[in-house]
Amino acid sequence: MLYTIVPRRGAAPPRAPTQRPLILEGRDVPEAAGLAIVGAQVWTGNPAQPLAEAVAVAGSRIRAVGTNAEALAAAGPGARVLDARGRRVVPGFDDTHVHFFTGGDALASADLRGAASPGELRERLARYAATRPPGEWILHGNWDHERWTPADLPTAALIDDVTPEHPVWVHRSDLHMALANTLAMKLAGVTSDAADMPGGEIVRGPAGRPTGIFKDAATSLVERAIPPPSPARILEAIRAAQDLAAAHGVTSVHDMGVLGGRGAETMLEVLRAYQTLERRGELKVRVSAHLPLAEWRRVAEAEPMPGGHRLRVGAVKSFVDGSLGSSTAWFYEPYADAPGVSGGPSDELADPERHYRRIRDADAAGIQVALHAIGDRANALALDLWERLAADNGARDRRGRIEHAQHLRPEDVARFVAARVIASVQPYHCLDDGRWAEKRLGPARARLSFSFRSLIEAGAVVAFGSDWSVAPLDPLLTIHAAVTRRTLDGRNPAGWIPEQKLSIAQAVRACTWQGAYASGEERLKGSIEPGKLADLALLSDDIFAIDPERIRDTRVDVTVFDGRIVHQSETSDRL
Ligand SMILES: [Zn+2]
Repeated sequence: MLYTIVPRRGAAPPRAPTQRPLILEGRDVPEAAGLAIVGAQVWTGNPAQPLAEAVAVAGSRIRAVGTNAEALAAAGPGARVLDARGRRVVPGFDDTHVHFFTGGDALASADLRGAASPGELRERLARYAATRPPGEWILHGNWDHERWTPADLPTAALIDDVTPEHPVWVHRSDLHMALANTLAMKLAGVTSDAADMPGGEIVRGPAGRPTGIFKDAATSLVERAIPPPSPARILEAIRAAQDLAAAHGVTSVHDMGVLGGRGAETMLEVLRAYQTLERRGELKVRVSAHLPLAEWRRVAEAEPMPGGHRLRVGAVKSFVDGSLGSSTAWFYEPYADAPGVSGGPSDELADPERHYRRIRDADAAGIQVALHAIGDRANALALDLWERLAADNGARDRRGRIEHAQHLRPEDVARFVAARVIASVQPYHCLDDGRWAEKRLGPARARLSFSFRSLIEAGAVVAFGSDWSVAPLDPLLTIHAAVTRRTLDGRNPAGWIPEQKLSIAQAVRACTWQGAYASGEERLKGSIEPGKLADLALLSDDIFAIDPERIRDTRVDVTVFDGRIVHQSETSDRL
């Protein structure tokens, strides 16, 4: 159970998400000493005062935005003063779609990505195992045998003697295969008798003995033996994740949950880890956590608590379809490379009326709902659901969201506006999927992919996220992707579907104010205005002026979160 959400006493009338912060454990932080950033080019995101020279912060709030003299006066004597030397300051970035535990868990694990030989993989694993409690599974890794000559797959025998007390299950960087050591296979009950399965392969050596490599569907043979992560491990992973976020200027994340098996269960523990950090005053990023739709009652029963605007249960999330890569994204027409296959609804939609009733009841309790939809048919169905909801529960500012909104029929773009549904999209996927989407969808349908500009011009709210750990947790890469649309293979120098490229300002707004809007917090954050929360990012280069291609090399020199400096790069000693 989610024991850390306090049950509500008595029946309170449902409130709109914007008035219903659902903060789990907020508390006032002691007033930080004042801070003034002067000599900057501040892009405020506030149409009434788009540019300024300086910002002053007191406690966790922005006190003044204006000239250097105004900021210095407002910050008061004893304030810390940072001279930005002409660099850009933007609102702290708001990433509307992350899987924070999954990403942090990988960061906190053995890093095998750079291993240039089997010996180095072994060496790196040995070093990592020596730092871990015996019995703890070693996961992630992201090795790549294509970096070696000859490119032989690693084996259990290679790593067994350096990991005698740690079950090892480390993936190749493409996630399509993984290496187990003998201890992991033993715990999973995998022997020479294990049968191959459709869609999977157990790589075997002499006498049919598994070598330790399991491919695709066969990975489930070992995966099912992995216990849920311990609370200590979860805390460690969340710390690693928030450090990375701070380094990239990300001051708010919408956590969509844990990837992989037992994700829903683990997510409740992840919430506890956030609460622990909040209680200790160590949280470095604002978190709006999403729980599965099936958990909506828990969210409805949570008691809103006054306090710090750092932690809240933001919404419930449900899946309408699957993914393009696995051909489970749901389309009206079959995939171009798989005749007869057009994807389909998710398991949650096996009983569509029950699914709708949950959405209707969650909405009636004032809870925001997010629906994952990739294919055009899934998106049309999600929009149908919101139209039906408005008819049943009445029109209100419900901030319905579609996560990904990746492939849209032209006629559905306007429906986002009419139904006031937020498109929560991840531009980096456009560089990635853009390499092969046309082969999967055919040229005409591929044209309707990642229609960011059409959505914005129609008047829809488009909020940007990374989908970390599936894509990098770096808003500058997200902005770069949205303004250039240059696919990772370099084949679209002028941009893939160039008519959908955004301006820098549109992209920055989608990473800041629109993100705050997507969690119903735009009155609190998302722009640099007096009275708003003091979340800021100071950039190494002026992304509004440089060649857009260089945006991806731009770094965040300073991150201010809640009025405190939580990141300062080594190269920012020019300050
Ligand atoms: Zn995701």
